[in-house]
Amino acid sequence: MTLAERARRVIPGGVNSGQRSIPGLTDLVITRTQGSRFWDSTGREFTDYHAAFGPPLLGHNDPDVAAAVAAARASLSLTGVAVTEGEVLLAEQLAELVPSIEKVLLTSTGSEATFHALRLARAVTGRRLVVKFQGCYHGWHDAVSLNVISAPDRIGRPDPTSTGILPEVLDATLVLRFNDVEAVRRAFADHGDDIAAVILEPVPHNVGALLPTDDFLRTLREECTRAGSVLVFDEVITGFRHALGGYQEVAGIVPDLTTLGKAIANGAPVGALGGRADLMEHFSSRPGGPVFFAGTYNGHPDVVAAASATVRKLREEPVHEHVFRLGDRVRRELDALYRRLDVPVVVTGFGSVFVTYFMPGPAPRSYDDLLANDASRFVGYRRRLVEQGVFELPLNLKRSHLSYAHTDADVDRLLEATERAVGAM
Ligand code: PMP
Repeated sequence: MTLAERARRVIPGGVNSGQRSIPGLTDLVITRTQGSRFWDSTGREFTDYHAAFGPPLLGHNDPDVAAAVAAARASLSLTGVAVTEGEVLLAEQLAELVPSIEKVLLTSTGSEATFHALRLARAVTGRRLVVKFQGCYHGWHDAVSLNVISAPDRIGRPDPTSTGILPEVLDATLVLRFNDVEAVRRAFADHGDDIAAVILEPVPHNVGALLPTDDFLRTLREECTRAGSVLVFDEVITGFRHALGGYQEVAGIVPDLTTLGKAIANGAPVGALGGRADLMEHFSSRPGGPVFFAGTYNGHPDVVAAASATVRKLREEPVHEHVFRLGDRVRRELDALYRRLDVPVVVTGFGSVFVTYFMPGPAPRSYDDLLANDASRFVGYRRRLVEQGVFELPLNLKRSHLSYAHTDADVDRLLEATERAVGAM
C-alpha cells in the first residue's frame, strides 16, 4: 500500500485541511521542504507557489527562524503561568509596527483571532449583527457565518462551509458585496443600531485578489465610527506580507481591531488579535467584563521565537523589496505571455501575491464579477503546471505566493511551464 492509500484509511479524505476537495492532492505525500521547494514521497520536486495558503514569506525552513526556534526550544518550554520576555518583546514590536495595534494577544491560529474579535465586538457593543463580504474567509468557526462559498467554481452547489451551523448564527450575519459603497451605506441606514462589527479581508485573497477601492475602505471607516460599530481588518494573509504594518499601512485606513496569522511566524502555528487598548482591555480587567479569552498554546515560546526572528529579518533584510520586484516581474511577464498566446486573462495581485483570472478584463472588483465567469475548463491547465513541477493549487481562482527564497530562475521556470501548459490546451 502507498503512503497516500494508508493516509486515506486513517485520515478523513486522506488530507488534513481544505485540500481534501481538490482533485489530485490526495495522492500527494510531502516528505521535505526547503526554500522555494518541496518534495513528495515519490521523489518529485515542486517549486511551491501555494505556500500553505501563505505563511512562509521568507521561504520554507528559513535558517534564521529555524535557529531561533531551536534556541528557544533548548532553554524554554511552555508553562502557561505568565508572559515570557519574548512575548513582551513581540507584543511591543507588533504595537510599534501595525497602525491599529495598541494592545495585542497571541493565539495559535487565525480562526481563533477572528473568533475572539467578533465575540469582543458583540460583548462591548451589546449588538448582534456582523457584516461580512462575499468571498472573504475568516476561519472555520461559527462566529461569523461562512454562508458564502469562497470558491467560485462551487457556485450553485450547497454551501459546505455552513453545514452544521445553527440558523441563528447564520441570521446574525449580513453578507454584502465587496467594494459596494452603496450597500454599506444602506446596511448602516437600515441596521446601524444593531451592527456590532464589520469584518473584511482588506484584500480578499481567498478569492484571488480583489483590490479595495479607497472609497470603499474610507466609507467602512466612517460608517463604523458614526454607528459605534467595531471595524475589524482580517490581515491573516496580508499582515507582514504586504507590509510590516499590513494592508492598513498601505491603504492608510486604521481599523479598530486587527487579526494576524500566517506570515507573522513564517509557518509556525500563530494568530494574533490586536487593536484599540480600550477594546482589548475588556479581555482582562474592564468593569462588566472580562470577555473570556484562553488557549493552552497561546504565546508558545517556539512560536514567539519564530515570529520574533521573522520580524527581525523583515526589518533587517530587503525581503519586501525582493518579493515585490519578483511579483511585479511575474505579473508583467505572465500578462505579456498570455497576450502573445491570445488567451483572455486578467493577471493581478499585490506585492508577493499574484493571481491569474481566466476571464477578459477589466480586473474584477467584486465576487459577482468572478461568478459571471466560467473558468472551469482551466482546471486542467493548472494540473499541467503541477505535472511540470510548478505547484499552484489546481483550482481556478487561487492566489499564488512568492517568498524571499524564490529566485528569478524560479520565475523563468514558472513562465516556461505556463507557456507549455497553455500550449497543450
Ligand atoms: N482569515 C483569513 C483571511 C484567512 O485566509 C484564514 C486562513 N486561510 C483565516 C482567517 C483562518 O486562519 P487559520 O487557518 O490559521 O485558522
